[in-house]
Amino acid sequence: MTAASKKTRLRGSRGAARRQAGVKYVYAFDEIRLAERTAGSWDGVRGLLGGKGANLGEMTKLKLPVPPGFIVTTEACRAFLAAGDRFPHGIWEQMRTAVQALERAAGKKLGDPAGPLLVSCRSGAKFSMPGMMDTVLNIGLNDEVAEGLARLTGDERFVFDAYRRLIEMYATVVLDLPHKPFDALLSEYRARRGVWNDAELPSGDLKAITAGFKRIVEEHAHRPFPTDALEQLKLATMAVFRSWRGKRAHDYRTAAGISHDLGTAVNIVTMVFGNLGADSGTGVMTTRNVTNGEKELEGDFLMNAQGEDVVAGKRRTLPIAEFARAMPKVDQELRRIARTLEKHYREVQDIEFTIERGKLWMLQTRDAKRTAQAAIRLAVDLANEKLISQAEAVRRVTPEHVDYFLHPQLDAEACHAAREKGSLIADGLNVSPGAAIGQIVFDADTAENWAKLLKRKVILVRRETSPDDVHGMLVAQGVVTSRGGRTSHAALVARQFGIPTVVGVVALEINAERREMRTAAGQVLKEGDWLTIDGGTGEVFAGEIRTVVPDMTDPYLVKLLSWADRFRRLGVWANADYPADAQRARKFGAEGIGLCRTEHMFFQAERLPVVRSMILAPNAAARAEHLAKLLPMQRADFIGIFKAMDGLPVTIRLIDPPLHEFLPSRDELQKAVIELETRLRLKDGDVATLEAELVAKRKALETVQAMHEQNPMLGLRGVRLGIHMPELVRMQMRAIIEAACACAREGVKLKPKIMIPLAATSSELKVGRALLEEEGRKVLAEQGMKVRYEFGTMIEVPRAALVADRIAEFAEFFSFGTNDLTQTTFGISRDDAETGFLSEYLDKGILTQNPFATIDERGVGALMELGVKLGRQRRKNLEIGICGEHGGDPASIDFCHRIGLDYVSCSPFRVPVARLAAAHAALGKAKDQR
Ligand code: PEP
Ligand code: MG
Repeated sequence: MTAASKKTRLRGSRGAARRQAGVKYVYAFDEIRLAERTAGSWDGVRGLLGGKGANLGEMTKLKLPVPPGFIVTTEACRAFLAAGDRFPHGIWEQMRTAVQALERAAGKKLGDPAGPLLVSCRSGAKFSMPGMMDTVLNIGLNDEVAEGLARLTGDERFVFDAYRRLIEMYATVVLDLPHKPFDALLSEYRARRGVWNDAELPSGDLKAITAGFKRIVEEHAHRPFPTDALEQLKLATMAVFRSWRGKRAHDYRTAAGISHDLGTAVNIVTMVFGNLGADSGTGVMTTRNVTNGEKELEGDFLMNAQGEDVVAGKRRTLPIAEFARAMPKVDQELRRIARTLEKHYREVQDIEFTIERGKLWMLQTRDAKRTAQAAIRLAVDLANEKLISQAEAVRRVTPEHVDYFLHPQLDAEACHAAREKGSLIADGLNVSPGAAIGQIVFDADTAENWAKLLKRKVILVRRETSPDDVHGMLVAQGVVTSRGGRTSHAALVARQFGIPTVVGVVALEINAERREMRTAAGQVLKEGDWLTIDGGTGEVFAGEIRTVVPDMTDPYLVKLLSWADRFRRLGVWANADYPADAQRARKFGAEGIGLCRTEHMFFQAERLPVVRSMILAPNAAARAEHLAKLLPMQRADFIGIFKAMDGLPVTIRLIDPPLHEFLPSRDELQKAVIELETRLRLKDGDVATLEAELVAKRKALETVQAMHEQNPMLGLRGVRLGIHMPELVRMQMRAIIEAACACAREGVKLKPKIMIPLAATSSELKVGRALLEEEGRKVLAEQGMKVRYEFGTMIEVPRAALVADRIAEFAEFFSFGTNDLTQTTFGISRDDAETGFLSEYLDKGILTQNPFATIDERGVGALMELGVKLGRQRRKNLEIGICGEHGGDPASIDFCHRIGLDYVSCSPFRVPVARLAAAHAALGKAKDQR
């Protein structure tokens, strides 16, 4: 290295060090404006200070009662983790300065027995991850401080309650010791006194427990509990930073789609105590009901307790509705604050508060997690109250929220019967709606193994859940806990992920060690037994209960979707093959049928033999007889669909699949022939009958063999089939036009759209169309009617997209058949790939998304864009839609919006989701300003 370059390098690294020393790692709660200037936006502030810290700063700015404190930034966490779990220069120094400022403000000192300051050390990432990371409370206590504080407060019981909690949290969070020995010692004392909760233990016991806890730490960690308050603070902060990397936090982020690179902030907050006696308490609540969306507070509180008692579900809490009776004045203040926060954030909040000797303190606020049902009602209500715009209300509802309404619920009659039969074994709090049926498992690891490896449906049953159970909850159909309230860990996680859940089912006595649970009536259910739960009512049933798909008449959903309809540009049509599907699609809001797959009508049990005879017929004349039988069947179907869709467009696609799909398989026939030959040789049965059967089977085998294709999906199908066997599509055309005439006579408004599948060249379309037109003219002449209809084609092979201008000469509309277009563009079989190598590609990141689920914009999408451009070059008003499965996928719908399609067509059950997604596409990402 030359001297000059060495100098440059040194100068560079000194510069970096200086820059690092200059980084502001710590913000006091009242420095939120400075943070806003530094981070540039509210989103940036949340990224820097974490959600909890940003909101504590924001509440301080709003002059709400927040205990003084400061935030160590996410940037500090990232620097700490990057430096191998060490504080780079600057962090600790800035923390000490901030502590001194806190001490000055409070007139107390950390570690000073004559006036001790106690602080909490709480995690707080940009996105809320309830309970996934660590927290240490009551930092600053040691033997001398405890004695000093006991003298100052005159409440030894409170002091040692706080002290023993600090030791346990320190041990489990900083030293990673298990909770078990601590729980065991507490249980021992509770049992000795015959009490159910810790609040009933006398102060002498708590003092003894504190000493016992210190012994446990020494025994397990081989070092004493640290007496120095600053050391406690430093180690706790480091442990909270490390907990970002913990397994449960990692699993949660993966499930919630949160980046693993963000890091967590740490909030150091002056302790306030809810366990100082009868005029103290603590609670957790949401500013509205987040289970059903009603405009009422929802939550729990406890008098004379610390916050963790409420959240952990370890003590029986009281519903927040009763708080007014316990503390009427504070209740009023709390309600006032709830309104202020909702107005400020324009969103329903989830609040933690503590009352210390009659004074209310706000410890946290954040946007509340909610069920799908509540999400929709809240969005509508907030818009009606003018807190947000209707566009914002539509944006706030996700496709998953709407999808929920289309999921199975318990069948009311079956439920009634189950109740009569005595299968209703218990009920609890209905914290996350939806029906779930599965086999009972008693721990998260078993849930994961059974669900993932054995592909079983499971219901996770626990006394209460903790962050360690999340991986099991995520794979379970539903969750049941015997303890805990509406704000318990299980309830929060369940709502976030839409897992049907019932908590606080006190009648169930769960014995996880013995892998069984006992009901109040004495019935014992074991691991593997079936259980059904209704997260909407809170009922728990033994056994399996039938489910039904709910109707979509929830008035808030109807309202929200009507708003979505006003914002979207894309039409939403449905793929429907039968009149009943068409009716359902229309009820869900479909504006037309984008695809009626006529071959599906052929698969019905009573039709299949006719279809088979038609295919096996030796010539056109013989085939005509069978086609004549099919004609009235098809006509009746079309009449039903036209009537169901009166006034709306109906697109009928002519037969598409290769004919062998309607015939028995070659292997099956071969087997039957061999069997019959063997039986004949052994004279096993009536020889004449066996011979006749053998002749028939041999003939069928011959025909099937003649039709066999190596690549049937690239074979005689689509438009080619119509050209090869014109009498078949003529019959279909006749059925369509006859049905149209019959409906028109009855006053049904219609304009059939006849769609030819899988065209690759304009000339095959020309030929295919000409023969259909000829048939159409003939039928209309016979009927003496005039019915207008259109011809169009599906764009399903790359060539069709590449020559779309020529194709458009013979097509009045296009519909992208993206199932086939994806298959033919990638050269990947749509029937085999998803169960084969495609999942490996996805696991290895070779593909980032399944192209059969979401349009591959670069490849398939580019062909679509070209198809749109060329098609409209030739025919300006060419109507273009999509009818592949992608038509119901929100990301693909966004793409279809961008490339200017006229409509998406999807299965009836996706129609409501597509209406919302089309509105999202039109509204774009911009949010209302805070
Ligand atoms: C398609 O290919 O996308 C399509 C809608 O047709 P099918 O799925 O019937 O092949
Ligand atoms: Mg297709």
